[in-house]
Amino acid sequence: MADTPAECNIKVLCRFRPLNQSEIIRGDLFLPKFQGDDTVIVGGKPYAFDRVFPTNTTQEQVYNTCAKQIVKDVLSGYNGTIFAYGQTSSGKTHTMEGKLHDPHQMGIIPRIAEDIFNHIFAMDENLEFHIKVSYFEIYMDKIRDLLDVTKTNLSVHEDKNRVPFVKGCTERFVSSPDEVMDVIDEGKSNRHVAVTNMNEHSSRSHSIFLINIKQEHVETEQKLCGKLYLVDLAGSEKVSKTGAAGSVLDEAKNINKSLSALGNVISALAEGTVCKTHVPYRDSKMTRILQDSLGGNCRTTMFICCSPSSYNEGETKSTLMFGQRAK
Ligand code: ADP
Ligand code: MG
Repeated sequence: MADTPAECNIKVLCRFRPLNQSEIIRGDLFLPKFQGDDTVIVGGKPYAFDRVFPTNTTQEQVYNTCAKQIVKDVLSGYNGTIFAYGQTSSGKTHTMEGKLHDPHQMGIIPRIAEDIFNHIFAMDENLEFHIKVSYFEIYMDKIRDLLDVTKTNLSVHEDKNRVPFVKGCTERFVSSPDEVMDVIDEGKSNRHVAVTNMNEHSSRSHSIFLINIKQEHVETEQKLCGKLYLVDLAGSEKVSKTGAAGSVLDEAKNINKSLSALGNVISALAEGTVCKTHVPYRDSKMTRILQDSLGGNCRTTMFICCSPSSYNEGETKSTLMFGQRAK
């Protein structure tokens, strides 16, 4: 393979959603000014990314410009991670999932599912594929299996090659995009079961969909493995806005801790390879799990999702700053 393990491969993309109805009614201003295809100006300050997607960007455009290549790479034996970061209601779930069964509005995960099987059908007939998926969430640093509600506190282990994995997490073999969709639907409805307010819950937990691809040549028995983590992060907003106390405050601290652990890992990776920076993977469960799928030889893409509304200016700026750290 052409890449050396030292090569760093982190892309940071920024996406702004349109103003929503209540923001328009309130008379919020539309903040961002888009410059070229990689810069956005907010509050007079330019923020540059690998790519900036203005509000009218379609789900298909987003997929084609950034996720499509990752699918090819994972089928060539690389690992990868795609994240969506941003405050609640900034478009993370829209970007990662979208409307699952709507061909225009579906997001990255269902498009990846379709793409994987399209590639496989076009590949060498002597290759045998085994694709399995898992779906779990991390809430208050506890890992909950979304495909088996009895598993509410799974732990992270390392296999004999020191590759981290979630021990006991359900794995489902899938052989078509529809089967992948069924698993997602199942996980989502399980996620709903245990919680009273889904919007609140999804803003405070990270949801992680894992696709594991193993291929084996039937004659030579040569094997190739790749895996892809698709992560819809908890909302990045500061707590003060909701005036939280008690358990809500604990939740918020926990989210901040795991998001800043992620930020530290990504920025250590982005700082690069010359001075062999220490990468603090062990500071949170999420970064431990993702350890062999971030940086190094992996494909990492971070979506920085933003609201365009003047009401959210503070959060939008801190979201943009988070994304800048990864550059
Ligand atoms: P988050 O997951 O960050 O909390 P959502 O993805 O649920 O936010 O988005 C909040 C709302 O805004 C949803 O109704 C979603 O459909 C809508 N939305 C988000 N991004 C876009 C976009 N790029 N274009 C149109 N609607 C969007
Ligand atoms: Mg969401």
